[in-house]
Amino acid sequence: MQPLETEPCLEEQSLLSAPGQEHWSWRSRARAWWYRQVSNGATSGWRSQQKSSILLILLIASLSVLLGIAYIVTLAFSPAPLGAPPPESTLSDDALCSWGNLYLPEIVIPVRYDHNLSCSFDPLTNSPARAQGQTAIRLRASQSTTCVVLHAGENVDITSVELVSLDRVISGRVLKRNPSLQQVILTFVDGLLQPTEPGPSAGKTVDLRPKGVGPNGDEDEQKLPTLVLNYTYEIQPGLDGFYASEFTDAEGVRHPIFSTQFESIAARKALPCFDEPRFKARFAVVLSAPPAPFVVLSNMPLQSTRNRTDGLAEYTFEVSPPMSTYLLAWVIGELASVETVCETEYKSVPLRVWSSPDKVGMLGTALSVGCTALMTLSTTFGVPYALPKLDLVGIPNFAAGAMENWGVITYRETSLLVDPYVVPNDVHQDFRVALVVSHEIVHQWFGNLVTCADWSELWLNEGFATYFENLAAFAYRPSYGYFTKFFAQETVSALVDDAVSSHPLSGTPEPGALYSRVKSLAQVDAQFDGIEYDKGAAVIRMLRSYLMAVSKQAEESAAEMRAKPCRRRRRHLQQQQQQKQEQQQKQEQQQQQPNRAFTWQEEPFIAGMRQYLTRHAYSVGTNTLLWDAIAEATGQPIREWMSTWTLHAGYPVVNVGLAASAGQGSGNEGLVLSLQQQPMSGTSTMPASPANDGSGNAHPLWWLPVAYTTAGSPEKMAWATLSKQTDLLHPTSLAFPSAPPSSSLWVLVNSGRYGFYRVNYTEQLWSLLANVSASPLTIAAVDYAGLLSDSYRLSEAGRLGLTPFLQILQALAMRGGVEYSPWDVALHHISRMRMLLSVAADDDKAWAPCLTNLDSFTRQLTGVRIIVHGIGPSSLCWVSLVALLASSLCQLLMVLICGCSGPQSCSAQAEQATQQ
Ligand SMILES: [Zn+2]
Repeated sequence: MQPLETEPCLEEQSLLSAPGQEHWSWRSRARAWWYRQVSNGATSGWRSQQKSSILLILLIASLSVLLGIAYIVTLAFSPAPLGAPPPESTLSDDALCSWGNLYLPEIVIPVRYDHNLSCSFDPLTNSPARAQGQTAIRLRASQSTTCVVLHAGENVDITSVELVSLDRVISGRVLKRNPSLQQVILTFVDGLLQPTEPGPSAGKTVDLRPKGVGPNGDEDEQKLPTLVLNYTYEIQPGLDGFYASEFTDAEGVRHPIFSTQFESIAARKALPCFDEPRFKARFAVVLSAPPAPFVVLSNMPLQSTRNRTDGLAEYTFEVSPPMSTYLLAWVIGELASVETVCETEYKSVPLRVWSSPDKVGMLGTALSVGCTALMTLSTTFGVPYALPKLDLVGIPNFAAGAMENWGVITYRETSLLVDPYVVPNDVHQDFRVALVVSHEIVHQWFGNLVTCADWSELWLNEGFATYFENLAAFAYRPSYGYFTKFFAQETVSALVDDAVSSHPLSGTPEPGALYSRVKSLAQVDAQFDGIEYDKGAAVIRMLRSYLMAVSKQAEESAAEMRAKPCRRRRRHLQQQQQQKQEQQQKQEQQQQQPNRAFTWQEEPFIAGMRQYLTRHAYSVGTNTLLWDAIAEATGQPIREWMSTWTLHAGYPVVNVGLAASAGQGSGNEGLVLSLQQQPMSGTSTMPASPANDGSGNAHPLWWLPVAYTTAGSPEKMAWATLSKQTDLLHPTSLAFPSAPPSSSLWVLVNSGRYGFYRVNYTEQLWSLLANVSASPLTIAAVDYAGLLSDSYRLSEAGRLGLTPFLQILQALAMRGGVEYSPWDVALHHISRMRMLLSVAADDDKAWAPCLTNLDSFTRQLTGVRIIVHGIGPSSLCWVSLVALLASSLCQLLMVLICGCSGPQSCSAQAEQATQQ
């Protein structure tokens, strides 16, 4: 256990302070884009004055960009690197023709789809539109077979099957449909699918994945056999597959929109395909649909349009790089757009945002956020956005918040639109749209470029998107403080979910498998839960923060070593001079960059993440591949640390004590901080046991980064790690005041709330922390929120009485300032207490006085808040002074006030509160 010192607010320091060269560059580009929109060359005078400097900078920048692009292109057009699971070596024809497994065999895999779909409908009759499709799938095969197994929804009526090779056409038919697995087994009537690769040699398997990422693949791929399927189905109203929705214009005329939603397992409802994330292939899409004013969008740019004789138009799109079927998408409708060109570090990316024509005025926020996100994330990830364009489309009927289809992201309208004419500005909507738009754009790298190998490791897509959405949204609007809200918005709910009903982030790999698998179709959709999103993000944040702290400490230690004198005279003089220069440079740098943090290139976690993205681009990733890439970049045993977090459900509670060590007297030098980890469980009726771990394994000893602050130096954060059950820490580097530990020395563990665990203290330490909680200068807002959350949830779990929570809660109204996280946490806990007491009072009147007391306490607490910030019925749920805070919390606050009001009306009660 080695204490390390660092400073709080690591992520925002990194973003706001100077390498700020990087941060500055995104913001300057964002401003440049904005200027193009609103001021049309207002910077020309500045340009002329700085012309020669700019030319030089541009020359250097151009060379750098060209070299960078050359490097990326070299990487991108190389064969996909390791990462995909190896195919089975051989299977008998009988086994293939009677296939009954959830997962498709890997004897035959797709490398390219030529997907041709015609969408016809009659607007005069209300009959459903029909889709008529032909999909030609170029295949690789590692052995001869008479049967091919792939996915097709029950709605898809396959009307013909052919296998076309260079010298012949083989007829085929549907041998069997398996509705429970949504699979179809095709067989060939007068021939075989011959192997396209040499058979596997001893101990080796055949790599069937697509070669390269260009539109045509390599020369061999042009000669591959092609499975040609014709099919038809009705386009029904619904929310997945290829489905129909509509919008109604101001005249009351209804306009249809046809769009797709394939994640997780609905591409098979729109075309027969190999519908698992690991089967990546190129897609050449041709759609026949009504001509203008209809707009037709797909993942890639439109290549050509041709009018057909039947009144439809044929829209041909460029060929995509290899991608998973769930990311394929198209949209057909009478849509309107706003657009710009985003200048990322690597290339210009055209960005369009679409909606029905009457809502096009509400697309400005999404356009601005989208461009900022593309620029920010390209720079951070060190990898260009992979496609030539990006469209964001609002769909009137949409099941989820949004869907990250590569190059054509679809959104529920409420996740995309911000009405600029709402007075006052709807900051809550602006805040939320920025997050959702950013989330989907993070997926263009995490999910689309590198995809989870199977749904068991969905957190590799969703955890990264949930964490880095904050980075892109922060770049759009730093004043919203996205990272400072992370604990209240993401970590708290994940801690609750993970204690009550949980499962490991990653499934445990089966023996001999590179990745793990869900066990049924029903389990696939169940994977999309708070564990994969919020815990995934919180675990990423914990690792990144610790690695930043370690690197910063190493950097400072190296500077100290350089400062030590040398014994030999000559070397001593040289070093003295060098040291003086270095110190001078450092001082100058520090003066220019008072909170200097890492550049992206220096930051160890980011370096590892870039390696992961580059190495596995256009392929699949696993938690093992991710940890190995970060381990290479950092030199730390990341896989060993993080497997305790990814392969097991749950998290620990750390029990903390502070005392004088035996034989050391009561002086500060003898203080010992004791730490003990135990599995956390959600309620007192659910004791922690191995049975609670969804992996079926015993609880691990978690690797825990422990940041802490003390009474002696509340502004200074120290770091240690705990990977044993118990450990003792001698916090000698911390300046304790002279008083003995029994009187006033407090210690706060998990400072900054970077760690994904709860902290329980001795009774005395809880009491000391409650005493100092009223001071925001001593206990930061996020730490105060953490104390509220831990004390309440530990009491619900039967590990602590309710007194510490109530004592700490009393400080809420005294802290002053606008503190989102503590209020968010506190109001949720008060609401929950009130709900529990209400239920109890309904059953047994003896509880009624408790409920009355709580209501009185709440009125007092929220009344103070209402007076301080002017939240009242006259201003309803907004107030310009603290608009974001108010709009986020007002609803909850009002519900509480109304809940406490008894027979009085909500409005009267709130009025009374404001007059107190
Ligand atoms: Zn997502």
